[in-house]
Amino acid sequence: MFWKPNEYHKNVSTINWEKLKQQGFNVVVFDIDNTLDLPDKETIITKELLDYIDKVNSFGFEIIFFSNNTQERVDSFGKHFKHQCIANAKKPFRKNYKKFFVDREADKIVFVGDKIVTDVIGGNLHGGYTILVDPLTLQKKYWYTKVMTFVENFFRKVSCFEKGNYYE
Ligand SMILES: [Mg+2]
Repeated sequence: MFWKPNEYHKNVSTINWEKLKQQGFNVVVFDIDNTLDLPDKETIITKELLDYIDKVNSFGFEIIFFSNNTQERVDSFGKHFKHQCIANAKKPFRKNYKKFFVDREADKIVFVGDKIVTDVIGGNLHGGYTILVDPLTLQKKYWYTKVMTFVENFFRKVSCFEKGNYYE
């Protein structure tokens, strides 16, 4: 089903990159906000995150940061890394997936994000392998985040992702 991730983890730390590399995947597309970094704040890149991205990279994956957030926000995150950063991605709509990933085989791409509605559905529609993680924080500041959280929870329910029911 187009809204079901292939794997579900509490956070990115338990993803088995060695296994995914052996399975033939060669590109990792990371969401930024609430997947790797806290949203809506000044970017503070921890050594832990730098080491983590280096570790993923060391398995031989190409890494791309793909965010629906603004250019300014994505730049403030991306300047700490040598990897490609794409802002205003408009996930889950197909246009930018086709534009930016046209030179890569879709079924060799792993998409990692905290939202079914954007990260998982977008990655699945593109034909990639999708990994859902729990958001780093739960924001309920704006009316639209409340609506999106409602939609998100609906998809999580129909996907049978009860809290704590993580992929082994
Ligand atoms: Mg996110």
